[in-house]
This record gives sequence, C-alpha cells and structure tokens, in this order.
Amino acid sequence: MTTVQTHRILTDLEETAIRSSPALALHHILSDITTTRSLGQHHMATLSSLCPKALPGALQLLDKNAVTKGCTPMGREVHLVTPTARTTTVPYVVLEGYCACRAYAFQVAAGEELHCKHSLAVLLSEALGVVRTVELDELKFAALLA
Ligand SMILES: [Zn+2]
Repeated sequence: MTTVQTHRILTDLEETAIRSSPALALHHILSDITTTRSLGQHHMATLSSLCPKALPGALQLLDKNAVTKGCTPMGREVHLVTPTARTTTVPYVVLEGYCACRAYAFQVAAGEELHCKHSLAVLLSEALGVVRTVELDELKFAALLA
C-alpha cells in the first residue's frame, strides 16, 4: 500500500450495524470474503472493528498457513491451529464455539470478545479457501478431544 488512507473506510450505517449485532456483521463479512476469496481493505476495517484483539494474531496465523482441518471417514471435523509460539508445537483444537486456548476461556466465553485469534484464523482460512485438509481416523479424532 503506497498511499495513506485519510478517509474513513466504514460508513456510519456499517458502524452502527457492527455495534448492534456484531455476530451478524461478522457473518456478513465472512460470506463476502468467501465470495471474493480475498481480504480487502473494507473487510479488514470491519474485522478490526469486530475483533480488535484477535485480528493481528489471526492474520499472523493465516500468513503461516497454521490452520488444518482434520476430517474422519464418518464425516466428523475438527480444526487444528499450529501455535505461533516456539515454546509448544501442540496444535490448538478449535470446534464451532470452542477453542482450547486461555483467551477463548476467559474473553470469548465470557462474552467480551467474539473470537480468539485461533477461531478467527479458522473462519478466515475457511472463507479464503486456504485450509489444508488431512484425514484422521475416528480413534485419532477422539484422542484429540480427550
Ligand atoms: Zn484460541
């Protein structure tokens, strides 16, 4: 980006929609990303308004292709997110409405945030179509959630 943006990206109407129904606003923005398969400036502005804490970390995870989807022959699915910290290589297990990390437990589950960086990275990776899929057998799947 070579030019400095001085104008506002989101309209008043959009900002009101984001404040009054953040989950719905996120749903809309994710469908739009799914359609365009790209993250535009407008998407980024909306996302940073919706998930200010999670977005930078989620983008870092996207950059590193950290999201994998494990699918079993029976059709069960789980997302695994490789951590960015070098201290651990154990992936975070992310299911709809759940991530194994602390931020999810203390901020998302408490209703302060919509997503942690892992669950947001999963949604963005799926919307952008950049998720790697691996096959898991049923036992391995069960072991991940144990
Ligand atoms: Zn998380």
